[in-house]
Amino acid sequence: MNGQRMLPNCCEEWILDPAWKWGLKIPVLEMFYCAPCGHPWQCTGDGVFMELSTRTSYFVKERNGFPYLSPADGPQLALERCCYLNLIEVIPGRGGEFICPICGALWAMNEETVNGLFREVYSNTKTGQRFARKEGSPRDYFVPLNQ
Ligand SMILES: [Zn+2]
Ligand SMILES: [Zn+2]
Repeated sequence: MNGQRMLPNCCEEWILDPAWKWGLKIPVLEMFYCAPCGHPWQCTGDGVFMELSTRTSYFVKERNGFPYLSPADGPQLALERCCYLNLIEVIPGRGGEFICPICGALWAMNEETVNGLFREVYSNTKTGQRFARKEGSPRDYFVPLNQ
């Protein structure tokens, strides 16, 4: 994982996206579960959320008016929310390169056979991190590929 931390895409959306249950209106000290993956969370302060199984705290930050979760300490997230939300808009199977309009990261998309399965693989050309796209509800999500 190159020392980088992965946060399930669903958790970030569950906390930040107003179209989902709360969208940042979670009361302080409220404990809750991300519905898609079941991870337990708690709002521990204004704009601070702790993932309870790892006891990792995240601050809500903004980049170009775009909210995302940033770990309070330790490794940064391998896949930033801006890239995630823009990558899932990319037409599956199109291939080629893609620049995240929020943070400017350059992504390359390829179709590859991984562990015998045909997969769409998304690579961050700066960090070398590679992710496989998986079908999810209500949105697809990304899981890191072991190098
Ligand atoms: Zn989740
Ligand atoms: Zn980005």
